[in-house]
Amino acid sequence: MTFFKDLTPYSFKRSAIRTNSVNVGWLDIAHTYQVGSVPLEMIEALWRFCRAPVVRTRGFHVCNLCHASQPGPLRVTQGDETLKLSTAEIRVFGSNKIYAAPDLIYHYVTKHAYQPPDEFVVAVISGPSPGTEAYQELLEQLRLN
Ligand SMILES: [Zn+2]
Repeated sequence: MTFFKDLTPYSFKRSAIRTNSVNVGWLDIAHTYQVGSVPLEMIEALWRFCRAPVVRTRGFHVCNLCHASQPGPLRVTQGDETLKLSTAEIRVFGSNKIYAAPDLIYHYVTKHAYQPPDEFVVAVISGPSPGTEAYQELLEQLRLN
């Protein structure tokens, strides 16, 4: 996995670098990360972002925090819906920043107790949500596709 410290300028995919884009949730077993709880509301909202990935990565990343890493994309289920994670990135809009995270962040939060920065948690819960016009407009301005 590619490691980036939280809230550092996003640089992973050159064509997706935008002003004020910062990293969140690029974890790797070689680096410590913040552990703690997040509101259930945040987990539910984060799922909506993972359903609407905006940047596809080549191949897939593997969660190396898991002891037995499975080959291929990671299947994650919430309710009656299953997503294949580890092949894309999401974008979350804060008041003055754009948070760039791997879609695996959902797995990190739910399975590895990763606690993202507070400002990210707030943006996921209170910021524009995928499926809304506000989100779509912001996304179009980024021209990521
Ligand atoms: Zn894992």
